[in-house]
Amino acid sequence: MITDDVIDRLKALLGPKGYRDDAAEIAPHLVEQRDLYHGKTMLVARPRDTSEVAAVVRLCHAAGIAIVPQGGNTGLSGGGVPNEDGRNIVLALDRLNRIRRIEPENYSLVAEAGCVLAQIQDLARSHDRLFPLSLGAEGSCQIGGNISTNAGGVQVLRYGNMRELVLGLEVVLPDGQIWDGLKSLRKDNTGYDLKQLFIGAEGTLGIVTAASLRLFPLPLEAATALVAVTDPAAAMNLFNRARGATNDQLSAFELMPRIGLDFAIRHIDGCVDPLPDSYPNYVLIELTSSSEHSRLDSILEAFLSSQLEDGLVLDAVIAKNRSEAKALWKLREGLVLAQRQEGGSIKHDVSVPVAAIADFIAEASAAVIARLPGIRPVPFGHVGDGNVHFNLSQPEGADRGEFLSRWGEFNRIVHDIVARYNGSISAEHGVGRLRREELGHYKAPIELDLMRKIKAALDPDGLMNPGKIIPEISESKSLET
Ligand code: FAD
Ligand code: ZN
Repeated sequence: MITDDVIDRLKALLGPKGYRDDAAEIAPHLVEQRDLYHGKTMLVARPRDTSEVAAVVRLCHAAGIAIVPQGGNTGLSGGGVPNEDGRNIVLALDRLNRIRRIEPENYSLVAEAGCVLAQIQDLARSHDRLFPLSLGAEGSCQIGGNISTNAGGVQVLRYGNMRELVLGLEVVLPDGQIWDGLKSLRKDNTGYDLKQLFIGAEGTLGIVTAASLRLFPLPLEAATALVAVTDPAAAMNLFNRARGATNDQLSAFELMPRIGLDFAIRHIDGCVDPLPDSYPNYVLIELTSSSEHSRLDSILEAFLSSQLEDGLVLDAVIAKNRSEAKALWKLREGLVLAQRQEGGSIKHDVSVPVAAIADFIAEASAAVIARLPGIRPVPFGHVGDGNVHFNLSQPEGADRGEFLSRWGEFNRIVHDIVARYNGSISAEHGVGRLRREELGHYKAPIELDLMRKIKAALDPDGLMNPGKIIPEISESKSLET
């Protein structure tokens, strides 16, 4: 039970800098990026190190108080905000922000959970190493949040998502014990891979306090191009040809439909049309190499010229320098931000096998337009990984609230198609609260049962981020059916 006495004991344990209890200071911790959920809490705990995290968890465990871990609060599934009942505390990791060690010769570093992603990228770079996770929120999301959501981003194609980038973890378990699994090994076959349980667990199994991360040689050359194509099928055809023709140096392959480019140009300062004419679809391609003599520009130019002659590419621009490359990336990032200015947007973060991407986009677009003429599909993203952000902007002039009230209806249409392609209803943003019922609808009963058994084994009292990921029994199919 959350009583004044327990709150006082937590405050005494944390010291004056270690908590927030003022309503105005707490407010930012109670809302999230999509503005879909507004939670309540009596206290935001801000422990300064792992042993303080453990002490807070032990005290909450003894008192039966639930804990909602929070990193940079940039998550897109509502996983980091507390529930509305107020029977919990938020545990913010921002003060655990030390890099414990960097081991360039082992291509690894150990960072605490509250380190901001950009801070880790910069530190690795200063040692001639690359930490490849890269995403729009990198200036404020934290590595503990990245791990807990198994974040993806724009370089998964080459380097994998968070699951591939973690070598070891330190975790405070739901009863307050500390598991030190901070090994920096590439190979370790001593039974179950425990760290993988906590990666992508969205704070439901424990609190990640530090991680050993995998580094790579720093790319010294990059070549970036924006390429116009007719449709997603042409984009995927280009993708297949590009992998072979570029010595597997492809590190990003991002689809952008014209409507997304229009949104960015219309609403985001500094976004300009990169080509003289307008085309139905674009792909942002980037090649990188850790050698200075790879002549990536020539490779990319030769490849794109041959595809132009073939008719697969309609037009293309290759960035001549870093600032031109940045301008092309700004269109990709601007497209995400600009959707907010176009009224309501119903989101899907799905994946299907790479070979099915074009068919999926065609089928899902036709289905949503048939249900609501005027709806504006904006399918974009990391299609080289089979991941599409299949977002639906409201018809022009429609009522925002009325459109958003149809969120579940459109989810069902799109996710049914995803299921037919044997895809996933959450490719990289996680489940949180937003997709909990959908998970119950689409996950096989045996998988839900295994998830519940794991949750019950590690967190029998259900005190770690309750109400997230795992659907209520009533929200899911039963094992018998
Ligand atoms: P939070 O939002 O604070 O938390 C996310 C979840 O993890 C919550 O369930 C929380 O309880 C849990 N959690 C946080 N820290 C811990 C911890 N230390 N221990 C245990 N549980 C914890 N995501 C992608 O994958 N790819 C993208 O390309 C991408 N682009 C984005 C672009 C923008 C502009 C924005 C706003 C978001 C984007 N995201 C993307 C989503 C988001 O940035 C990621 O999910 C990120 O990994 C979340 O990190 P965070 O620190 O903000 O976590
Ligand atoms: Zn993404």
